[in-house]
This record gives sequence, structure tokens and C-alpha cells, in this order.
Amino acid sequence: MSTLSSDATAHRPIGLTAPSGIDRAAHHRLDEAWLAAAWSHPTTRVFVVSGGQVLIDDTPDGRTELVMTPSFEAPLTETHRYFLGTDEDGVRYFALQKDSLPGRMDQSARPAGLREAGMLLSARDAGLMVHAVALENWQRLHRFCSRCGERTVIAAAGHIRRCQACGAEHYPRTDPAVIMLVTDEEDRALLGRQVHWPEGRFSTLAGFVEPGESIETSVAREVYEEAGVTVGEVEYIASQPWPFPSSLMLGFMARATSSDITVDGEEIEEARWFSREDLRTAIETGEILPPVGISIAARLVELWYGKPLPKPLPQL
Ligand SMILES: [Zn+2]
Repeated sequence: MSTLSSDATAHRPIGLTAPSGIDRAAHHRLDEAWLAAAWSHPTTRVFVVSGGQVLIDDTPDGRTELVMTPSFEAPLTETHRYFLGTDEDGVRYFALQKDSLPGRMDQSARPAGLREAGMLLSARDAGLMVHAVALENWQRLHRFCSRCGERTVIAAAGHIRRCQACGAEHYPRTDPAVIMLVTDEEDRALLGRQVHWPEGRFSTLAGFVEPGESIETSVAREVYEEAGVTVGEVEYIASQPWPFPSSLMLGFMARATSSDITVDGEEIEEARWFSREDLRTAIETGEILPPVGISIAARLVELWYGKPLPKPLPQL
């Protein structure tokens, strides 16, 4: 049974999930002559990524965009230059990884991480940013060869690290994680709270896919480990790049085959079944804080709920 197909919220884009319209043009990454020409082309646009942040700015018409410059205005860098792709007008995009962001260019330009910028930017800019942040995280954590321990150098416009000692090539890694909204036969949703979350926060369960495990098995294992609930049917909904530092969130709806809850107490300190009415009341009274922001968790809960989640009512 699915509650999703006729749902009016089902086709709203999920943060960081919508197509960016950028062709990554991976076949150019090893073509140094092409990359040099692309870099110096007057229409090419460049932005700086540093520590997971970029500069964003508000436009006069009320949008927010990534601050980009022509390459001749960009700060110089020898190696940390990532080619991100081209758009349908042929504009080429690069990110420069630097130790700090450039000084503010005007009053409204400001640094922002993905959690903030992902909510504000267009799909194109959010897509460019998430690509750059994911590469930066990978570069930062993989400076040494996992085969021989020697230093590695950047190649392929930021998409390979090559070991000069043993010749190994290392590629950016993406770690699959599953995130799932579990419902029972009464169509109540299972939400839990992680030990380290802010007080009152409840959200979907989630966890990493383990080596040698299918994602369906992973969904069932994680739900059972964290909440003691067994899961049968699993339906894939959507995915979301989640470079904190290198995950890909795979979002599911899962149907419980048992209802007794036993939390693990380590990762999850409390889990409860919520009817839609329970959830509305709990949010409106401020008893719980639902998932918010760019996370696909918020969308999974909303898909089940059938409309945007309510807001807390002002307390008298
Ligand atoms: Zn090596």
C-alpha cells in the first residue's frame, strides 16, 4: 500500500536532489589543453570553496546565488582547481579550493555552508556547490595513498588523486547511507531521537550501508538495531548527496511487520509511533521538533503526512 502517488507534495524538488542542468563533461577532465582553454575563456565562471563554505549573495530580485567571477578575477591556484562541468549555454564552471574565502565583495555577500545555501540557491548553483564541497572533503581526507602510504597528487581536474610512488589512482568515494520512514499497518510513522540531537528533535531512522550488504537489507537491519522493529516491504523514494563528509542518502518508505519498540539506547534514545494527528499535536504544542532544512528526512515525513508539516503554535 502506498500513500505517496497522489500526494500533492510528491513532486516538489528535494534539496540537493533536483537536476542541476550541469553536464559534468567528465571526458574533458584528463585533457589539459582543453581545461586550460576552458579556464581562460571569458565566459567561464569560478567560485571559491573553503572548509565546506562558499560565498553567496542576494540579488535585487530576491533570489540568492553563488558568488562567481570570471577566471581572470579569480585567486591564483596551481593545483586545487576542480572542473565541475558546462551548462546548456556552454558556460564552463570551476571551483577553486582555498584555505579561506575571498574578502566580501559587497555588503550582502556572505559565507554559507550547504545546510544554509542548499535551501536558498537555485538547483544549478546548489548542484555546483555540492559537487565542489564533496570534492573538497575527499581531497582533504585522502592526501596519502591507501595502498602504500605515500603522498598523492591531484589529477583529472580534481577527480583523481594519483600516487607518484606506486602509481595507484584513487577516486572520490561516496558512502551509501539509508534513511527511511517506517510505517505500520495503521499507517503510523516511526520517528526516533538520536542521543546527541537538540532536545525534542524527532526524525526518521538512518544508518550506513555495511560492506557486502544490499540497501534493502541495510534498511531492515538499521530499523531493527535502532528500534527493535522488523520491516518487510521497502520502497525507494529518492536520493540526496550528503557530503558530510561523503555520504549519499538513499531515502525509503518501509513497512513494519512488528510494532513493539526497543531502542538501542546508544544511537537512538527514544522512538515512538505517531499518527498524523499525534504528529500535528506534538509539533503544534512544541513537544517535538520535526526534521527541518535540506535533509531528505523532512521530505520523507512530509510525503507520509500528505502536506507541509505544521508549525509550532505560539505559546501563551
Ligand atoms: Zn601509493
